[in-house]
Amino acid sequence: MDNKKKPMIYFCATPIGNLEDISLRVLRILKEVDVIAAEDTRHSIKLLNHFNIKTPLTSYHQHNELTKGKYLMDLVREGKSIAIVSDAGMPGISDPGQELIRRCIEEEISFTLLPGANAALTALVLSGLSTEAFAFEGFLSREKAIRKNQIDRIKKESRTIILYESPNRVVGTLKELEEHLGNRQVALARELTKHYEEVWRGSIKKALEEFQNRQPKGEFVLVIEGLSQEEIAEAKRRRWASFTIPEHLNYYMEQGYSKKDAIKKVAVDRNLPKREVYKYTIEDN
Ligand code: SAM
Repeated sequence: MDNKKKPMIYFCATPIGNLEDISLRVLRILKEVDVIAAEDTRHSIKLLNHFNIKTPLTSYHQHNELTKGKYLMDLVREGKSIAIVSDAGMPGISDPGQELIRRCIEEEISFTLLPGANAALTALVLSGLSTEAFAFEGFLSREKAIRKNQIDRIKKESRTIILYESPNRVVGTLKELEEHLGNRQVALARELTKHYEEVWRGSIKKALEEFQNRQPKGEFVLVIEGLSQEEIAEAKRRRWASFTIPEHLNYYMEQGYSKKDAIKKVAVDRNLPKREVYKYTIEDN
């Protein structure tokens, strides 16, 4: 890739704690661009001062995303280069950036991402839980209905789940998870990359005992074990236990499935051979 700065937007990852986690490329771009747009200029100025970066700063956050986004894209059209930084980690991950990327695509404005630190992936790898497939939920919503949907989704999720959480809500969230998910394995990662970095691993119950008795400090990432294949099969069996096989077949046929496909689905749901389910359709005729 060409090393010269271009009229475009550079989304730059910044450290999530340890300042040494900034990349050489991000440092160079922050020095070379015409403007740095930061989620919180008071926060980012400390980072820039530390690295002796004098580039003009402007704000770009949740509340001025629309107007400021347009202004920044206009600057690029005039030939200027812009760097976008959030308070920590990757812009666009539970931080502003995604909306501007969507608009850059729509309006054919050049942009790229300079990768780097991210709390979710750091916690996931440190957790020791499966990294084969995972689902990132960001923060659980504080709106009741949305939160309920998120918890329902997590409950059924077989991939490892990653959540962001603030220290004063972590115990409440653990209680809610225990109530809905049972006693799954979790990892609580806090102060990642910082002096007091800690990764606590164990069951949700044990995590509650541990964190109820101390004032949780620092920012948290919660990593939650997904449902095992046996639990998924068991949940399916329980779901259909109140249906007879003919009712179960009807359920799918009413949804528009052919008899053949309904048989297949019922066989999978109940872990039965297809011919076993097929018998019930013959008895029907
Ligand atoms: N954009 C960031 C990223 O790429 O990770 C996330 C920003 S989000 C607004 C902030 C949340 O990320 C915190 O509430 C916490 O859950 C998590 N986080 C950020 N830094 C962290 C750290 N050093 N240790 C643990 N969690 C952290």
